Amino acid sequence: MDDSGKKARRIYLDYAATTPMHPDVVDAMIPYMSGVFGNPSSGHSYGQEARAAVDDARAKVASLIGAAIDEIVFTSGGTESDNLALKGVAYANRDRGNHIITTSVEHLAVIEPCRFLRDQGFDVTYLPVDEYGLVDPGDVARAITERTILISVMYANNEVGAIEPIIEIGKITKSRGVYFHTDAVQAAGRLPVNVDELGVDLMSISAHKLYGPKGVGALYVREGVEMVSFLHGGEQEHMRRASTENVMGVVGFGAAMEIAAGEVATEPDRMAALRDRLASGIFERIDGVRLNGHPERRLPNNVNVTFDFVDGQALARQLDMADVAVSTASACQSGRKDPSHVLMAMGYSSDEARNSIRFSLGRETTAEEIDYVLDVLPAIIEGLRKQSPQSEE
Ligand code: PLP
Repeated sequence: MDDSGKKARRIYLDYAATTPMHPDVVDAMIPYMSGVFGNPSSGHSYGQEARAAVDDARAKVASLIGAAIDEIVFTSGGTESDNLALKGVAYANRDRGNHIITTSVEHLAVIEPCRFLRDQGFDVTYLPVDEYGLVDPGDVARAITERTILISVMYANNEVGAIEPIIEIGKITKSRGVYFHTDAVQAAGRLPVNVDELGVDLMSISAHKLYGPKGVGALYVREGVEMVSFLHGGEQEHMRRASTENVMGVVGFGAAMEIAAGEVATEPDRMAALRDRLASGIFERIDGVRLNGHPERRLPNNVNVTFDFVDGQALARQLDMADVAVSTASACQSGRKDPSHVLMAMGYSSDEARNSIRFSLGRETTAEEIDYVLDVLPAIIEGLRKQSPQSEE
């Protein structure tokens, strides 16, 4: 707030869509935007400087998830990591079987490669979820057949923040000899991501969700996992992904991972306190509201709610006019008219799904910002309910 009591700046509550770069990440990247420009594959000193930076970033990312250096494949982000995991493992293991298991609440970056693979002759099982968006590990065990080659279950859901039982599923996949991939794009930086503790064979991460740059991410691939590449060319990334490395991007990614690891003991708790302040404030001030996702097994920065008789898109527009940025479902789906597939899988009607909104908090979120939102929200909801064709039904 400024002296006149007016809000001095816009409020960003869409950190699940993307995050601003941390200033230290920007500082780490700057030398690689001009001075240090060599190609890491070049043998001369320019190339070696760039190679050292890529190696250093890889070592950071690897050590922060408990992986070996050679188990990290740098990619262009979460979508590419998910595509590489699913298609790469499916094609490499076709002789062992053609069955893939995933869930009905995955991000499109998993759902669409699965659809593609189904068109190519693979069988895909989509596991159901409960009313909170959680998968039952028993369902995973029951779905495995001798043809199953890969299971992909996201670590934390991008819409409702549900934290899936990854450790339990990892134990099942290990005992049954099936590869296990998790999309940890929303979890990294907010939850522990040690690959051995989780028991995963492949894990996707994206830098722009954890205060790093856009267009860079990683796929963790456990040593021994059979996976084909689908970007053929040079020998970069141990022949698993050709193309000259995004040097400044991976440098920023490494820095962002290091900062996140340094803050993981404090920042998630701070965020969870703000999340709970927002959720309880909404319930105190507004009737006809429901929290979507599990009350406890949820990301520390996620508040997804359904307001009866209030279209989520209209609410997001009104909040934007009040300088508060939120979204209805995932950013990748915001242009779509269909109700959220995640909420529908959780058993919501299409109206209930359309009446939902996601607040996602982050490093810059303050208690004052939450209180501002709680101040403006009741009147906006009341106004929208008065105009709502749904309330007259
Ligand atoms: N997976 C999840 C769970 C996500 O939330 C996102 C981004 O919204 C992605 C994958 C895609 O990541 P990227 O934007 O880096 O391609």
